[in-house]
Order: sequence, then C-alpha cells, then structure tokens
Amino acid sequence: MRCPFCGGEETQVKDSRPTEDNTTIRRRRICSTCGGRFTTFERVQLRELMVLKRSGRRVPFDREKLMRSVQIAVRKRPVDPDLIERMVSGIVRQLESSGESEVTAETVGNHVMEGLKGIDDVAYVRFASVYKNFREAKDFEALLDELNVPDGHPLKDD
Ligand SMILES: [Zn+2]
Repeated sequence: MRCPFCGGEETQVKDSRPTEDNTTIRRRRICSTCGGRFTTFERVQLRELMVLKRSGRRVPFDREKLMRSVQIAVRKRPVDPDLIERMVSGIVRQLESSGESEVTAETVGNHVMEGLKGIDDVAYVRFASVYKNFREAKDFEALLDELNVPDGHPLKDD
C-alpha cells in the first residue's frame, strides 16, 4: 500500500480490527519511509465472492454463469427478459449485501428457485430438476403436485 504522503511503497500495518458490524476491516498503517500514518479499509467485493460447490470445490461467483443457467430454464418461455435481468440483479444484490465472502451453491440455487417460482412455473421446474439433480420420477411428481402443472410434461421443449 503506497504511502499517501511520500509515495513510499513500504508501509506496516500497526493495527487491524473489524468495524462494529463486521463487514469491514480497518487497518492503521505507518509508512517506513516518512513515518506518516494512515488508515485503510478492507471490504468484501462481489467479484471476490466465492461459491462453495457440493463437490467441495470453490469457484469465483460469476454473474454471467448464473444468468446462463437461468436463461436455459426460461428458454422458449413467454418470459420478459427484463424480468429475468432484474431477478438476477436482485439475487446478486442479496448475495452482496449478506457481507459474506463465501456462499454455498445451494444458497444461490435457492435464490434462483425462489425468483423463478414467481415468474414462470415451467422455468422453475426446469431449473429445480437440474439444480436438485432429480433422478427419480417421484421427485418430479412431488414438485408438480406442489405447482399443480396440468400437462405433467413441463420439461418438454415445445
Ligand atoms: Zn511516507
């Protein structure tokens, strides 16, 4: 961290503590060259948000990837693209405002399911089937019962 007084590159952290709401780390720094003291703040940024996958792997959160998976679910459905855009932005904002640096893939998936449920039932079932990795017909039946989908073939690409 470059010193704001002399431009020196060597600074030492003298003190480091979280703010009251625990969303920020405040660091007191001292310049090794001129002795100037200054403060820096460290906050979670969304681009550094990590997603913990079921496999235990961590990958950086990727809005585009999330958008793609939602778009697959709404493909050929009469859904306003602006509505999808707003839904995804809303999810990103929620994740961002949680203050966490890591979320589970399950949490992200639940947000999407919750959002799609209010937009399009078929898209919701499509997303849920991929996300929950349904293997048995009864998993579908339970979901369809819940939604009361009449034709029973929500995944058909008509
Ligand atoms: Zn300095």
